[in-house]
Amino acid sequence: MKPDILSLSLDQIRDLIAELGQPKFRAAQLYRWLHVSKVISFREMTNLPANLIEALVARFIVDPIRMVTYQESAVDGTRKYLFALPDGNLIESVRMIYHHGISVCISTQVGCRMGCTFCASTLDGLSRNLTVGEMLGQVYAIIRHSNERVSNLVLMGCGEPMDNYDNVVAFVRRISDENGEHISQRSITVSTCGLVPKIRQLKDENLQITLAISLHAADDEKRKMLMPIAKVYSIDELLSACREYYDENKRRLTFEYGLVRGENDSQAYAEKLGDLLNRYFDHAHVNLIPINPVKERNYTATDTAAVYAFQKKLEKFQINATIRREMGRDIDGACGQLRRRYSEENPT
Ligand code: SAH
Repeated sequence: MKPDILSLSLDQIRDLIAELGQPKFRAAQLYRWLHVSKVISFREMTNLPANLIEALVARFIVDPIRMVTYQESAVDGTRKYLFALPDGNLIESVRMIYHHGISVCISTQVGCRMGCTFCASTLDGLSRNLTVGEMLGQVYAIIRHSNERVSNLVLMGCGEPMDNYDNVVAFVRRISDENGEHISQRSITVSTCGLVPKIRQLKDENLQITLAISLHAADDEKRKMLMPIAKVYSIDELLSACREYYDENKRRLTFEYGLVRGENDSQAYAEKLGDLLNRYFDHAHVNLIPINPVKERNYTATDTAAVYAFQKKLEKFQINATIRREMGRDIDGACGQLRRRYSEENPT
């Protein structure tokens, strides 16, 4: 299978152009077609000479993402896209409308191997990592389809971004590159279930992104029940790495806390969470997510009154707690509801 050219950095494009014996300025032209014009075939690159186009066609595909279908929420206009990859795998991405603009949520892997017990993405395990081009391609396909500027980007679809570290970091640099789509790093959120060594590595990448940590519990015992990764790294190890990240980058982290009825949503848990976060941060930021239904799991979301009570309790600890407005729930497009559709629709 031919590789996708979207995955190449500008430096790699320069090397390619040199290798093909073309003048240097062709590199910027090609990069512009790919990342600004976002064309889907080499033949659309009208200012490139025919011999260069033929050489590129022989070696690469342009766009690794093909839109299969999309669903639109009747409630909030959220769209969930189903995209096919060159090897037949399918992935999902979501585009949401907020008052401050359009937000896109992309997948970073086909499936996931983290095994969180409330999440649909992990039900069939991990198939493979996405390439840089496949992550860019999701954003570009949505931009082409909607014809809108994307103001926020969240890496919260299928997959664990820190389990596809190199490609995710390269993707963040590329999508924020001023010669390309130029989405500000400050408008990009990377969410992780807490791979501690990767958080430590990320701390030194000098990125301006927001790091979101899927915490979901305030003690190891409960976290281990909800998330297998908690058996590998304790909450103390995780929060120490988060603190180091903050000290290095001075970027506020977000802690995601999914409220599961009867599991982690009592007032006592809110106090435990408040105490815990205050040991590591002044004024931590918590995003409360009433857990979204996944039909294979029998968790139920906390009711609205208890969600507000949980929030109020955290505020007593000087913690800034927001309640996530879940978008696209009616099309299974909300957090934790994305999955490898392929395995569901074509059971093997
Ligand atoms: N693997 C990454 C990113 C993908 S999940 C991570 O774990 O952070 C994005 C967010 O959705 C995470 O906070 C995840 O814990 C949360 N999530 C998963 N399943 C959910 C569900 N059923 N309801 C609400 N949030 C869920």
